[in-house]
Amino acid sequence: MARTSELNLTAAQWSPNGGTLGRTDLTSASNFTFGQKVFSPALQRQRLPKTVLQQLHRTLDNGEPLAPGLADMIASTMREWALENGATHFTHWFQPLTGSTAEKHDSFFSDAGDGTAITDFSGKDLIRGEPDASSFPTGGIRSTFEARGYTAWDPTSPAFILDNPNGAVLCIPTAFTSWTGEALDMKIPLLRSMDALSRAGIRALRLFGNESARRIFTTIGSEQEYFLIDEAYYFARPDLVSSGRTLFGAKPAKGHELDDHYFGSIPERVLAYMLDVERQLAKIGVPIKTRHNEVAPAQYEIAPIFENTNVGVDHQLMTMQLLKSVARSYDFVCLLHEKPFAGVNGSGKHNNWSMGTDLGENLFDPGDNPRQNLQFLFMCTAVIQAVNRHQGLLRAAIAGPGQDHRLGANEAPPAIISIFLGSELGEIFEQLEKGNLTGGGERATMGLGTATLPELPKDTGDRNRTSPFAFTGNKFEFRAVGSSDSPSFPNTVLNTIAAEAVSDLCDKLEAAMDGGSSLEEALPGVLRESYAANKQVVFNGDNYSEEWHAEAERRGLLNLRTTPDALPQLTSERTVELFGSQGVLSERELEARFEVYAEQYATKVNIEAETAASIARTMLLPAAVRHLAMLQATGEGVLWELKEEIGKKIETFVDAIQGLDDANRHPDGEGIELAEYIRDTVLPAMEGVRTAGDALERVVADDLWPLPKYGEILHIR
Ligand code: ADP
Ligand code: MG
Repeated sequence: MARTSELNLTAAQWSPNGGTLGRTDLTSASNFTFGQKVFSPALQRQRLPKTVLQQLHRTLDNGEPLAPGLADMIASTMREWALENGATHFTHWFQPLTGSTAEKHDSFFSDAGDGTAITDFSGKDLIRGEPDASSFPTGGIRSTFEARGYTAWDPTSPAFILDNPNGAVLCIPTAFTSWTGEALDMKIPLLRSMDALSRAGIRALRLFGNESARRIFTTIGSEQEYFLIDEAYYFARPDLVSSGRTLFGAKPAKGHELDDHYFGSIPERVLAYMLDVERQLAKIGVPIKTRHNEVAPAQYEIAPIFENTNVGVDHQLMTMQLLKSVARSYDFVCLLHEKPFAGVNGSGKHNNWSMGTDLGENLFDPGDNPRQNLQFLFMCTAVIQAVNRHQGLLRAAIAGPGQDHRLGANEAPPAIISIFLGSELGEIFEQLEKGNLTGGGERATMGLGTATLPELPKDTGDRNRTSPFAFTGNKFEFRAVGSSDSPSFPNTVLNTIAAEAVSDLCDKLEAAMDGGSSLEEALPGVLRESYAANKQVVFNGDNYSEEWHAEAERRGLLNLRTTPDALPQLTSERTVELFGSQGVLSERELEARFEVYAEQYATKVNIEAETAASIARTMLLPAAVRHLAMLQATGEGVLWELKEEIGKKIETFVDAIQGLDDANRHPDGEGIELAEYIRDTVLPAMEGVRTAGDALERVVADDLWPLPKYGEILHIR
């Protein structure tokens, strides 16, 4: 049988290879208990003595360190519960700067000294761990002679038990810090940013007369896009295995031109997989709400109900992990890369973001009464100011090599950061600026209670799918986040820039009110001034259009096309001042991140480039030469045009391979200089090899071509 036909048949046979069907009865409610494996507040209420529980809450509310005795009590309850649920090990689960998660498992059992084992898990084990941290990226914060890194329990994100067919592990969400107290992870800055926003937001609420809210939380719901392909193809493609994306592949006859996939019926095998993922996520308390097909063939989306950002980020990371691990039970591989297939829509992660009080009020919900409406306009103004002032930082927060293939490719928001307000809210701001606030459009339903302020729409129905940052009724949607990224840093940035803007507007409002004005009198002026200064970032049109690129340039908005362009924003004066003033990241911590991200960019693209060179030389070139030999065997004077055609294509290919080999022998360099070299020299050389290779794919005999083709990978399941 010819080459990939065999793979294709295997890929298409899902019943025989779906050995997991029926492993757990997904139709039985008892197998679908939400939060069954979570050490949740509800479970804590059941299991912890009342005094311990009260003490714990007091400690958490006041942000104090846990007393050792208290930690011991909690640890012992947690251990009992974990053992009952089949866990044999525990791990401090943390988020190093690699962007993914890390875990080191320790057994609950230790030697009792008499030939038996006892279970052992103390308060100290719960609160603090010391993983051998020397191989995690630190951007120079931790030189090897002070190689200690500590993990510290985050009691605000519930511990959970992760099941494996052969056992279970208690996962304890933790932060990761150097012994000098610097953040070596993504969680610490996120928590700090939530504190900063809470401080600023509470200050604002007090100005608006709200005395009851005690804390403000940001919330996220991340819509995750991903591809699912049969593993038969995955393992036949060294590029997918080593870099998560295809480095070769000609455009197939059928792409997504027919628009027949988006929201189409979900293939049976895929649905079976989704149900399994969702069941496992439900067990560990991740509230999945939505699933559907996405635009590209073999592309799907999963979205949760929104949660407090700290928990939401942890849950998002678990979602990515389980999407990948459960896929293997269905002989699928889940690709989270932003652009696995050239010419086919890539994947993003829409980060829905809002803020709310501990009493459940959503601060981006246009309110039910005049006070709330004023407050809503105030918060929106702060966001506009924040996004405009820190466009570059927001762009840097979502940077990465995968994103460079997606942003601006007319399928995802461009690399230019702007805000979409919608026509109604947009109009209100326009009126606010003109000082002519006589009311919103026809749909307006709520008065602001003064003659000088407009009415607000209850729910702006209009949607914009092209904006990187869109107001969607009661939240903002940061749509430019990459599918493979942790949402942690993008949200850290959002919270921090919002905190700065809210504080700044509070300063101005207080100053105006000190002069004797009422809130209602003082507010329009403060908002007008901020809006006028920042409205360049508001754009309600088509962000994919040429005109927008030109218009954005006229407005002076940043257009940082590539990762090496964007990363220096992390250490700009404006960024350092922002993170310092809000107490979220020190200059040293920012420099560390800059260094780590630049190095990751260079390393990742370098792996791609070497893989591309190797596939080209050892797989594709031999196939093309065999094809030529086959033609030549037909004898002199026969089929000469075909021989000439392929001969030329092979020559072009060989030249391109040599070009890539040259580029891959890059100068010794590091950091951003190396990243720039790779972008400017290596990437174009890879592109050259790809173009020549794809041209050969179109003419070489199918049974000689060593890689599964796009048409197969994307359409057979
Ligand atoms: P769409 O953006 O496609 O219109 P939805 O309105 O259903 O979809 O919301 C998409 C995501 O936004 C969901 O994950 C949802 O949980 C999240 N979301 C809704 N409200 C909020 C909020 N207040 N804060 C953060 N995320 C939210
Ligand atoms: Mg959405």
